[in-house]
Amino acid sequence: MIDNATLLTAIAFSSAALMLAMLISWLNTRSDSYLVSWAMGMALIVVSLAVLGLRNGRYDIALQITAFAPLIAGMALVQLGAYRFATSSNRLAPSLWLGFIALSSMTLVFLLGFSGPATVILNAWCALFMALSAYHYWGARQEAPLPMIASVILFGLTGLSFLACSILLLIEGEMVLLTPPNNWAEQFNSIMAIVGLTGLGALALTLNQSRITRRHRNEAQTDAMTGLLNRRALFERLQAQEIAPHTAVLMFDIDHFKQINDQRGHGAGDVVIQHFGIIMQRGVREQDIIARIGGEEFCAVLPGMALESAYAVAERIRNDFDNHPARMVSETLRATVSAGVATSAMGETFSTVLSRADAALYAAKRGGRNRVNRDAPRHAY
Ligand code: GH3
Ligand code: MG
Ligand code: MG
Repeated sequence: MIDNATLLTAIAFSSAALMLAMLISWLNTRSDSYLVSWAMGMALIVVSLAVLGLRNGRYDIALQITAFAPLIAGMALVQLGAYRFATSSNRLAPSLWLGFIALSSMTLVFLLGFSGPATVILNAWCALFMALSAYHYWGARQEAPLPMIASVILFGLTGLSFLACSILLLIEGEMVLLTPPNNWAEQFNSIMAIVGLTGLGALALTLNQSRITRRHRNEAQTDAMTGLLNRRALFERLQAQEIAPHTAVLMFDIDHFKQINDQRGHGAGDVVIQHFGIIMQRGVREQDIIARIGGEEFCAVLPGMALESAYAVAERIRNDFDNHPARMVSETLRATVSAGVATSAMGETFSTVLSRADAALYAAKRGGRNRVNRDAPRHAY
């Protein structure tokens, strides 16, 4: 068996390495400030472990407070990091208050000379911080179920090991401890401290990395001006495979848009584009796909919709845009839009339906603009 001091040194080194990895990761993406809470928490836990390694069988009050104050503060900061990561909230106050109450309650009881109850309190607070961290991750498990649930288990087990230490000391009922407690719960706790801290740190870094990757993927698929899908994302989703029958494709193109740019400036043109993006969003259902596929060209894909209903949707959007012009400071930017609608037949690809919708759109342009034109109905079967 490894002696306690070696064990503590091992924990301290692995935590320090993770702490560094977190700080480096944070330097790359300054917005992920929860990594700082984690790294600071780990640093404090390392300090605590270093002091514990020095105690050499002693259990005097000054040494215990020096060791356990950074432990409680570190646990509170890890909890804060878990909370900020899982909820994307910036609230600091509740976690910091909890840490402060934990720290002062433990220190007070140590100072009163009751090292037994003080150690019970210490372990109970650590168990609570771990349980809260597990709870935060559980709430956010949808984001990345496997690493999130693995984190919940590690937080849970580490919390349980602290709880066990607390309960055993409570049962023993010693008011004053002369030597550090030594029982199965303490052993379990030492093991969980290594497995938990290093495992959780590594998982936190993995989760952070996958969050960054997801963010980049979203950015690559989104049109920055309107927040809708961009052309590439739309085609990636739909182009290759056959499109289900009764899928409606709507093409929109803003009328005489060059004039808006020429007469009111490019900035005004951008405002009109953004405004139409909003109009489109409020004109379709949750399950519909909408994208900005060119300068002032937009596309909507509506699954399970007959030609007449799709026509009605396009007509509603056209009408909404006509009656609710965009505004820029005190200016009103009047514009209209033309649309073409087509629905898919059995075995058709997205591209062919799209080109029929496009042909219908240009017929609408030729027909005088500010109107919706539908493709000839096809039989789905
Ligand atoms: P039509 O009614 O026939 O559609 O006439 P139009 O003037 O709208 O003609 P067209 O569709 O060819 O014009 C598109 C213009 O949109 C040309 C281009 O300068 C402008 N444009 C493309 N992207 C942007 C953009 O991001 N912002 C702004 N302000 N203008 C853009
Ligand atoms: Mg155009
Ligand atoms: Mg146009």
